[in-house]
Amino acid sequence: MSRTAQAEPRTETKRKIYCANCKNCKLVPSPVGDDTRYVLRVRCAAGKWKKRLGDEKLYKYFTVIRRSMEECDAYEPMGDEEEFLQDLKRNLPINDEVYEPADSPS
Ligand code: SF4
Repeated sequence: MSRTAQAEPRTETKRKIYCANCKNCKLVPSPVGDDTRYVLRVRCAAGKWKKRLGDEKLYKYFTVIRRSMEECDAYEPMGDEEEFLQDLKRNLPINDEVYEPADSPS
């Protein structure tokens, strides 16, 4: 058996872009049930996250650390990525939590 495909030599290592470290990655509340409670979602304010049919795609907040791009012309880094991502990993909820708004004044 001959080997026809050979691995291309790597010329450079591209760094993955983490959307969580981008100014366009926005945290938004999304109502659930009777609209008195909400869950947290993230959206790309630059409109880069799309469903197959073109609608905007939102992701669950607790998965934000997994959102990454090979490249993005709208990426706006917010600072020290490594430190930010470590803090985020420590503080992210582990699942999709439901929140209630703070009690309103009577
Ligand atoms: S602009 Fe690009 S890097 Fe920033 S959140 Fe949107 S897709 Fe991610």
